[in-house]
Amino acid sequence: MAKLNWVIHLVANGSPCSECGKEENYFPEYICNAHTHGLAQYNHLDFQMVLHSPREDICYILNTLGKRVQSGERLTAGDMVEGIFLDCPVRLDAFQESDRTVLRVIIPDGRNRFPEDPACDYPYSLQTHTMEQLEQMGGAVI
Ligand SMILES: [Zn+2]
Repeated sequence: MAKLNWVIHLVANGSPCSECGKEENYFPEYICNAHTHGLAQYNHLDFQMVLHSPREDICYILNTLGKRVQSGERLTAGDMVEGIFLDCPVRLDAFQESDRTVLRVIIPDGRNRFPEDPACDYPYSLQTHTMEQLEQMGGAVI
């Protein structure tokens, strides 16, 4: 089995990214900035998640996507990706993360509603905000 040759950074309130993130972060509750570095070696965008889930869930989702890229799959913005969760696809949207574009994993709420649905539950509904908007909601002065 090929080894995982990318890394995952989890930038959450109180835990800055040592390599690429800002030193202080302000996110609303349930929001973080988890992302991969290293998929450029496959000529592919890295992945991001902003829903602050348990670390093992974040790693599972980002590593599963990373392994699929490693084995040759090409994912782009707008794709609905099956095979991450049993009962629903996730969607990939393009967003800026620091100075690069990443594919953000948008996870539907418990009733499979995506953020553009006005009935989408909080905090799932926050997933289509930019990093700047999320930080402003968390109280950052930008
Ligand atoms: Zn990072």
